Amino acid sequence: MKLSRIILHHLRIPMKEVFKTALGTETVRDTLLVEVWGEGGEVGWGEVVATHSPWYSSETVETAWHVIRDFIAPSLRGKDVEPSTFGDEVSWIRGHRMCKAGVEFALWDLKGRLTSKPIRDLIGGVKDRVEVGLSVGVIGDFARLIKAVSEGLSKGFRRIKLKVKPGWDVDPVRAVRREFGEIPLQVDANGSFTLTGDHVSRLKELDRYGLLMIEQPLHHEDLVKHSKLQKMISTPICLDESIRSALDAEAAYNLGSCRVINIKPGRVGGLAETLRIHDFWAGKGLPVWIGGMLETGVGRAFAVAAASLPSVKYPSDISPSSRFWEVDVVEPPWELRSDGTMEVPRKPGIGVEVLDKVVRRYEVKSLGISLS
Ligand SMILES: [Mg+2]
Repeated sequence: MKLSRIILHHLRIPMKEVFKTALGTETVRDTLLVEVWGEGGEVGWGEVVATHSPWYSSETVETAWHVIRDFIAPSLRGKDVEPSTFGDEVSWIRGHRMCKAGVEFALWDLKGRLTSKPIRDLIGGVKDRVEVGLSVGVIGDFARLIKAVSEGLSKGFRRIKLKVKPGWDVDPVRAVRREFGEIPLQVDANGSFTLTGDHVSRLKELDRYGLLMIEQPLHHEDLVKHSKLQKMISTPICLDESIRSALDAEAAYNLGSCRVINIKPGRVGGLAETLRIHDFWAGKGLPVWIGGMLETGVGRAFAVAAASLPSVKYPSDISPSSRFWEVDVVEPPWELRSDGTMEVPRKPGIGVEVLDKVVRRYEVKSLGISLS
């Protein structure tokens, strides 16, 4: 595909629900939408899932803006590009995976629209509906925790994930087990624990609650200590932040650092790398699931498509639009069905339409770059 231009849209959107994790609190979401134009005027949309600050990864909306404007866009000028090989073509740019994913996503959408295929079909997805789980932030109050879990279960979410950190760890899990029994339950520490005595004893205590998995308990750069911890507990460790690429997945497998991977397509450089991680892990007979980054409805489309892959064996963190946004930037908004699943679109590309007026309402700045 030849492109005629790329347009960057920096949006700042107020969130309906404050979301707190071991890493920080989100009340406003800055995000970068990427719009690519094909030669014939067709349009594809993608989203860079970085935020205003490097709290989750080293990338931000501003670093992505810089890298796309100064390096990726010039490298696309006059070239034939395909979403499946885009990541390899920009592999000379080290890191910046969220930034690369944002552009790659837009190419997948454009490809889907040009070939009249949904992204699910382009990447080999097999499901019509995907299972959705609820992620509950570090609430710090037991009555509010029970209320949030109760509401999530009544809406149909297929599993509950509790964000934990040292000091808010065993007690909330015990409270939820006592109130709701053997529901599908897991925790996510966002790397906030260490292998010191006190933390290890808490992690071993969590091991007694029949959790589906303990997600990213230790530092995101430490596969070796995760391997040591996995030998101490029987609950599967799931790695999220630690897995940036298929090479990381291979290292984690060889070290025995985890048994499950939470793949975030926007974190690993896009759908092509998502497929590599998925296929490698599936080849070892191990499961994955798809995580969320509080994306708008644009980024959500790629998570939904990825969740339709065959080795996604657990519910994914794919919130409906109404959880965090008063108005999503896409139509129709993403909705949770009462059975806790979400429909995988059959329409071409991302399967939803981007609403210009909503993009403009939240737009902080935009930049058009000619590629012809
Ligand atoms: Mg996580």
